[in-house]
Amino acid sequence: MIALFAVTDAGRAAAAELAPALGAELHPLDDLAALWPRLDAAVFCLATGATVRLIAPLLADKRTDPGVVCVDEARRFAVALTGGHEGGANALAGRVAAVLGAQPVVTTASDAAGSTGLDELAAALGAQVVGDAAAAGTALLDGAAAVENPLGLPLPPLPPPRTGPRHVIVVTDRTGPPAQPGPGTAGPATTRVVPPTLVVGLGSARGVPASAVHDVLRRVEDEHGFDLRAVRGYASVDVKADEQGLLDAVGTLHTYPADVLAAVAVPNPSEVVRAEVGTPSVAEAAALHHGGPGAELVVEKIKGANVTAAVARVRVRGRLAVVGLGPGAADLRVPRAEAELRRASVVVGLDQYVDQVAHLLRPGTEVRASGLGDEEQRAADAVALAAEGRAVALIGSGDAGIYAMASPALEKAGDDVEVVGVPGVTAALAAAALLGAPLGHDHVLISLSDLHTPWPVIEQRVAAAAAADLVTCFYNPRSRDRHWQLGAALDAFRAHRPPATPVGAVRQAGRPGQRVWTAPLADFDPAAVDMLTTVVVGSSTTRMVGGRMVTPRGYRWA
Ligand code: SAH
Repeated sequence: MIALFAVTDAGRAAAAELAPALGAELHPLDDLAALWPRLDAAVFCLATGATVRLIAPLLADKRTDPGVVCVDEARRFAVALTGGHEGGANALAGRVAAVLGAQPVVTTASDAAGSTGLDELAAALGAQVVGDAAAAGTALLDGAAAVENPLGLPLPPLPPPRTGPRHVIVVTDRTGPPAQPGPGTAGPATTRVVPPTLVVGLGSARGVPASAVHDVLRRVEDEHGFDLRAVRGYASVDVKADEQGLLDAVGTLHTYPADVLAAVAVPNPSEVVRAEVGTPSVAEAAALHHGGPGAELVVEKIKGANVTAAVARVRVRGRLAVVGLGPGAADLRVPRAEAELRRASVVVGLDQYVDQVAHLLRPGTEVRASGLGDEEQRAADAVALAAEGRAVALIGSGDAGIYAMASPALEKAGDDVEVVGVPGVTAALAAAALLGAPLGHDHVLISLSDLHTPWPVIEQRVAAAAAADLVTCFYNPRSRDRHWQLGAALDAFRAHRPPATPVGAVRQAGRPGQRVWTAPLADFDPAAVDMLTTVVVGSSTTRMVGGRMVTPRGYRWA
């Protein structure tokens, strides 16, 4: 039982709106103590201070106390006050906020990122919700939904179950169980999340009416049990591109040349069709071809009145997001990186980077953190998890594609994995912004680490950059075991550039302890540089202006 309490007119008005949505009732404040032991939750349309004073004498144990949510008079916030996890107040705050158009306020650590809601689950898959979305959504947030995923789609993280399921959510392109068990019948209710996994191929005679097309499509649902809401596209052969009946029935028709369709292996080819249109199959071949590599036929050609249809299901693939987190500061992390962290059910990365974003992860996210040096293994793990069908985020600092995890991962990933790259602010950009405008003209990045590259190759590239008058950013410039390389590199530049050429260095850009300094090339001391530093050597036109390093846009007016 959920009880509502309010004392002012505004509070009572809010409670009146909440009552039907929560299946709750408004009670006089005087009844609070008597009701308390029987309550699952209580919503107070009162200030937090007043609420705290009211419930303080009643609070006993967080495992048994009801969850308490507070709503301010102006309905701006729904605050989960006590019993966030055990009492379900966090989830309730979300429901209350949704009803009132308020902001849920959740302060328990693990839920700070909020759970994946039903609408987000659907959005992540591009799916439609069919059924009682409100009941399914509430059950999901309450940890009372069983999510079934027979197609093996890469689902986002789901709130861990807290109670036995009272609702089943099935991710499927099949039409649902015919009757939804309602109150009083056995078994939990079912809601379907219908992803766009199907392609329908269509063939027809000239002048087919739209009604005949609708009839054959209805049979896809009624006789074969596939939900037309799961159709991502309709396909046919080029000569049907202007077939009015098809267009009227399905809107957009993707068409392919007959010789392309003729090359598709199908179970039911026809010589009659080949003689007419130049391909032995239209419906089956178009469905398979538009479905892309790995698509499989789930409904073989069915014949209606002058129209044929076949259905292919696209290959379901796991998802690998390769995500750069930027140099460290939260506000230098792009919003899409955070969205991908919420989308992933497994996050793979170096422990220090995983720690950096732990508060952004949704409850239910699996974390695979490992120590320095395991780079190849980390990449292999991430790819293997995605190949199993999971939604994986492989994270790295700066940009994940620059001297980082993207290449070892994508060297291993086949086309059975969907890959999404999210760029990050790389060290050179973070450093350049702190130094001024050193990258205003042509520049190059060079890593001085000989872990992956032999020193003679690095040396050659350094010499070429020096000779080409390129502004040069050194990554991995110097470590305890590699102490002389930066000095050697700077000597190569001294042979080509004036002694006053500015050299900039940034240590721990965007992190605590950030340090920025510059010196003329003649004097720059490599000893102050370590592995947490990026060094930027100016070109012959780079100069110091107002204490900042500036490389002019061009030479013409320099
Ligand atoms: N993927 C990272 C680079 C990894 S190589 C990126 O895009 O930034 C590691 C090197 O990057 C370090 O040795 C250092 O030279 C540089 N680096 C990374 N983060 C840095 C930071 N916050 N400040 C300065 N340099 C940094």
